[in-house]
Amino acid sequence: MNGDAVFSFNLKSFTALLFGTLIYYSVAIFGISLFSFEPSHITLLWLPFGIGVILVKKFGITALPFIFLGSYFANYPGMVSETTPYILHTSITAFADTLAPFLSSLLLQRYVNTRFDTVKILLPFTFFGALVPTFISGIIISLNLAVGGYITYDDLCRFIALLMFADGLGLLLLYPLYDTFNTLSTPTSKEIKTSLLYGILAFTLIWFSFYLHYLIFLVLPLLLITALRIRTHMLMSIMLVIIIEMIILSAEMGHGFFNIGTQIESILMLITYLVSLVFVIMGTSLHHSELITNINLTNTDNLTKVKNVKAYKERIDELLSLFERYNTPFSMMLFDIDNFKVINDTYGHRAGDAVLIEMSSLIQKNIRLTDTLFRVGGEEFVILCPNTTLYEAIDVAEKVRKVVESDLHTITNQLITISIGVSEVKIADAEDTLYRRVDGLMYRSKQNGKNRVTSTL
Ligand code: GH3
Ligand code: MG
Ligand code: MG
Repeated sequence: MNGDAVFSFNLKSFTALLFGTLIYYSVAIFGISLFSFEPSHITLLWLPFGIGVILVKKFGITALPFIFLGSYFANYPGMVSETTPYILHTSITAFADTLAPFLSSLLLQRYVNTRFDTVKILLPFTFFGALVPTFISGIIISLNLAVGGYITYDDLCRFIALLMFADGLGLLLLYPLYDTFNTLSTPTSKEIKTSLLYGILAFTLIWFSFYLHYLIFLVLPLLLITALRIRTHMLMSIMLVIIIEMIILSAEMGHGFFNIGTQIESILMLITYLVSLVFVIMGTSLHHSELITNINLTNTDNLTKVKNVKAYKERIDELLSLFERYNTPFSMMLFDIDNFKVINDTYGHRAGDAVLIEMSSLIQKNIRLTDTLFRVGGEEFVILCPNTTLYEAIDVAEKVRKVVESDLHTITNQLITISIGVSEVKIADAEDTLYRRVDGLMYRSKQNGKNRVTSTL
């Protein structure tokens, strides 16, 4: 039984690894044929490095021989030569292609053990994950190519830089994409639509800059706007597609968007532009999502995860000014759990907390998206209903009261009820007058026997 389980696990991960290697090999072949520039077949985007790092992270050192073989067979056709021992040179290149992801995942694990949810990760990730390992593999590969006569010694340094950029770009594009797709929630259909729209815009702009080269500089502002609209995983998917597009178009042009001096310098210019584009846009996206997370945290109640008093104050100010300026009505209800002291005393504070948590999520599920639930005290809550008159609000209040009474079963055989006060905003109301009014109405619900709704205009 145990043996079977181990065997099936190994078979499963072996198949997954084989599949990963196949992707590695195909992407490498794809890169060599589509992203390489004449005359020396320099590949400008080496996505296999990113795939290699992901494979090592997932499968450990078992992945290394697979990466070696993937790289060997991908590089082999380009290295066949009558004058040099090409099997040796191809093997050395494959060795360096295996060493780089191994070193990268080792360094990432040692120095950068966090997720892509903060902009602070960007610099250490780039340094330890991309620069250091690709510097080492870049030197090995470039020397190997120079000794084998594939490139001249004059080009050695530029070639090392090129390899570092090409590999680094591969990692910078793929790894965050992999990481954020694992951690962020699945995109909503609205997010997918927005991403498609901005993706098509960017794609088209780049296509036009094939004819009007200066347009390439407008890609940055467009991507900046995109980064503020969609989350990191969708953004990185767009980035992957358009970087590939830019490289393919550049390869078609022979010397790329930036035609300066020699070909290798023009290519270096292009790749530096692409790396900085990815770096800046990814940084913006991470920083933006970090800010949003922080804002959400300071407006959220720790226990129940609904909005807190701070969020309530902000929202009521907004609604009051809308009422003053445009006469847009809104209603407010305040409720308090009945005999909560008894529940705490009988079942303990922990059980009381559980009641608060479950009640919050139950109510949240039963009100409209535009209505907001706030925890304004220990077991006192407010619901603000924009664009809602008193009679509609009374219906909402009755619905909330009933759903708590009938569906809240946190403690078995213990009925939990709430008393509600509800009112609509009046001319000359301020936050405190409105609050005191609904508080008084809630108190009347308590006095009249609890588990009821009391209202007034
Ligand atoms: P009433 O029906 O008149 O509202 O009676 P009550 O017992 O609910 O009285 P009151 O509203 O004054 O009681 C508030 C109680 O809620 C007192 C406090 O122990 C409890 N409480 C407040 N905050 C929390 C909390 O975060 N967790 C738990 N478990 N209990 C809380
Ligand atoms: Mg109370
Ligand atoms: Mg109470």
